Amino acid sequence: MANADRRPAPVRIVFLGGLGEIGRNCACIEVNNRIIVLDVGIMFPDPDMPGVDLVLPEFRYLKENADRVDAIVITHGHEDHTGGLAYLLRDLSAPIYGSELSLGLARNRVDEAGLGDRATWVPVSDGERRRIGPCDVEFIPVTHSVPNAFALAFHTPQGVVLHSGDFKIDLEPVDGRRTDLARIGSLAEDEGIRLLLSDSTNAEEPGFTASESSVGLTLRRVFAARPGRRFVVACFASHIHRIQQIVDAAVASGRQVATLGRSMGKNVELAQELGILTVPEGSLVDIDEIDDLPPGRVCVISTGSQGEPMSALSLMATGDNKRLQIENDDVVVISAHPIPGNEWSVGRVIDELHRRGAEVIHSGAEAVHVSGHARQGELRTLLSVAKPASFVPVHGEFRHLVHHAELARSMGIPSDQVLLCEDGDAVVLDQKGLRRDGTVPAGYLYVDGTVGDVGHGVLRDRRLLAEEGVVMVVVTVDLHEGELCDMPQIATRGWVHAPEAEELLEEASRVVADAVTKAMRDGARDVESLGRHARRALGRLVSERTRRRPMIVPVVMAV
Ligand SMILES: [Zn+2]
Ligand SMILES: [Zn+2]
Repeated sequence: MANADRRPAPVRIVFLGGLGEIGRNCACIEVNNRIIVLDVGIMFPDPDMPGVDLVLPEFRYLKENADRVDAIVITHGHEDHTGGLAYLLRDLSAPIYGSELSLGLARNRVDEAGLGDRATWVPVSDGERRRIGPCDVEFIPVTHSVPNAFALAFHTPQGVVLHSGDFKIDLEPVDGRRTDLARIGSLAEDEGIRLLLSDSTNAEEPGFTASESSVGLTLRRVFAARPGRRFVVACFASHIHRIQQIVDAAVASGRQVATLGRSMGKNVELAQELGILTVPEGSLVDIDEIDDLPPGRVCVISTGSQGEPMSALSLMATGDNKRLQIENDDVVVISAHPIPGNEWSVGRVIDELHRRGAEVIHSGAEAVHVSGHARQGELRTLLSVAKPASFVPVHGEFRHLVHHAELARSMGIPSDQVLLCEDGDAVVLDQKGLRRDGTVPAGYLYVDGTVGDVGHGVLRDRRLLAEEGVVMVVVTVDLHEGELCDMPQIATRGWVHAPEAEELLEEASRVVADAVTKAMRDGARDVESLGRHARRALGRLVSERTRRRPMIVPVVMAV
């Protein structure tokens, strides 16, 4: 791009996901017409998305501009930041930068999708600054609920744009690797930070998030108070520091550790290889070996802390886990907090575990979990250290973004330089400051199974089926003679209890027969229009007799 007037090029930022929901984080940083993609996440479906496995950002903008994409940068290894790579890489290929652990975690899904050869993984280390596409990108350490997370400083022609990633300010992190406030402070002093984009997940919560290491103390106390009993502890498989603290507490109480759940086994192995997780020699045993040990010498670390139906913990709760049966006197610790939307599933798992006689310890009763996201005190700390000229709250439901925007204004950022954006919004930063710059498509992309987009129409149908059921009518007609071959057959699911509604079904059959016969007498001779007549007649009767609106499916067959 020529800048004849020698003014530095503007920076454009396009938000494709994560602003207005928890999950599917994705943004584009654009300089001189080149694009760096920041995170490519997935979202887990809401209860009103029946049958949907996961939700992706809409990739239309990236597909249409694939030739402008120079690189993908990953802030950390959580699936809501990396899980979409396995889909995006079908449409475009670009080098992917992130910490070694983030890339290792992201890689699992990409390899499983058979797209390993479409990805070039470029590991970067703490504090590293690299030329990536149109600008320098600096990888600044932050603490979060997965190790080796980064905030990203983009050194652009407009100055520094800082993206916090997901972060908290943990002053006693398990690995001693603290959020590098000193570096952020020196960027603010030396160059000035033009724009801050910051994590809003906990923006409604006052105070400070407790240190991850506080969980270790609780776990040790919980283990020590229950000698002789078998422990099962569930947590996120990517939360390596939590796993470390579970291992430490278990080993300190004379136990051996086994993992349960595929991702738990894989991640423990990866983290050990990278030197991020340390398990004392001989303390890690195979799950099949635990039956030979007395209960008081066993700790199983399991997946399923979110009540996911097919996870190791859910299967234990229903007695369907082939590897492990929960027994009377077992202690189950759920070392996580349900993500919004998962409360019900987690509650049901806890109930079933009680039914099997286990003692269940969860974050509602003991401090066996702390959040990985900054609360108001930490958000204020980052704002006061970074001193940004402009601000956009990111990562959160709409109300989190609103609270974070208010907080930024209260810290002295001018109101017109705090922009509340949502998915699909674009902003531009130039000499005059930050302003809006149109919108791009950024709807939900629903994935069901391994392929494809489910679409809004399909979801609407599924909701209707779930709430109202379906009534099907099969009509066989002789188009030449213009008469019915047989009485219409009615079949229903989820509408009325058929045996008790026999009369209603007979009446429905008669009503459809009359409507279709009349239509043919009036000259209708094609199956589509006869289908419409059947649907209208049946729909009217169904709504009059039952005050319900099930899905009506007419099938007209011509002989
Ligand atoms: Zn996140
Ligand atoms: Zn995260």
